Amino acid sequence: MRNTIVAGNWKMNASKDAVKSLVNGILSGMGDVSAEVLVCAPFPYLSQVETLISGSSLMLGAQNLNVNVSGAFTGEVSAEMIKDFGAKHVIVGHSERRSLYGETSEIVAKKTKAAIDSGLTPLLCIGESLDQRESGNTEAVISEQLTTVVRLIGIEAFKNIIIAYEPVWAIGTGMTATPEQAQAVHMFIRNLLASSNQDIAEKTPILYGGSMNAGNALELISCPDIDGGLIGGAALKAEDFLQICKAVNMTFQIILVVHVLLALGLVGLILIQHGKGADAGAAFGSGAAGSVFGARGAHSFLYKLTAILAICFFVTSISLAYFASNERSVADSGQSIMSQTVMSDDAFDEDTSEIPSN
Ligand code: PEP
Repeated sequence: MRNTIVAGNWKMNASKDAVKSLVNGILSGMGDVSAEVLVCAPFPYLSQVETLISGSSLMLGAQNLNVNVSGAFTGEVSAEMIKDFGAKHVIVGHSERRSLYGETSEIVAKKTKAAIDSGLTPLLCIGESLDQRESGNTEAVISEQLTTVVRLIGIEAFKNIIIAYEPVWAIGTGMTATPEQAQAVHMFIRNLLASSNQDIAEKTPILYGGSMNAGNALELISCPDIDGGLIGGAALKAEDFLQICKAVNMTFQIILVVHVLLALGLVGLILIQHGKGADAGAAFGSGAAGSVFGARGAHSFLYKLTAILAICFFVTSISLAYFASNERSVADSGQSIMSQTVMSDDAFDEDTSEIPSN
């Protein structure tokens, strides 16, 4: 089972005061978040965020990198420099960099390689424009963007890559992909990876990005191939960002309710078959099932239903155990989050825990 990951992309929105409020706002609500959470800050603020998140489970990422290790590249920043500030992730191939700064799939592949070579986890963004979608080319575009990276660095490198599917038409527009649209492309991406390596395909996290917010996060993250979100606008306000992070907790609650209903259903079925109504046929006696299946038919129907419920119960049990273990690791780091929040409490102003976007 894959972890849920929520990443904030602040883009070019920050100031020292705003970063302090936003990060402290996020930290104050992280105690009951079971997702892995990171924020991708502009370069000048990496150091400040590194200090603010120290000892917490919140992670830091950058938004871009140069493919070279060092040298005469005025104005550029290398993977090693990013790592020097405690960042573990870096965004590569964001559609704004592809469209505004001419980054081709080949450049994105080289940046992905540079990140991995230095031990950073790249968040590899891929996605189609509206024109490309409307002309039926979504899969061809995704395929080209992804296979260019696979060709350069090999499928094994995807053990250390997070993919973010970001339909360009949904970024910053308020036009979110429907869960069905997003799931279809996520499944396509996973199948594409599976054509090279099934195991890696199953383990690679694929995030959705494009106007994800507190209102739509749950239904998107609940899709089987959507493993979290890359969040732009909604990552600039602590409260909104935290609500998205907590969508995974809602998933836990839904699984718990289904689990309890399955347990009750199983108990009922077992009672029907072995308890008062030892004769299963009699349980359905004069009812519809009795006449349709007869005594033997009803018995085998109940038997099959019990088996199906038992399998579902097993699946929900495994899911709950997974969530519980995730909660525990978050709780372990919660101690340090709390102490850090207390330390910086007087500096934290809840009303300003946001960065205004341009
Ligand atoms: C992004 O920039 O990666 C993004 C998803 O932005 P938004 O959430 O604002 O659409």
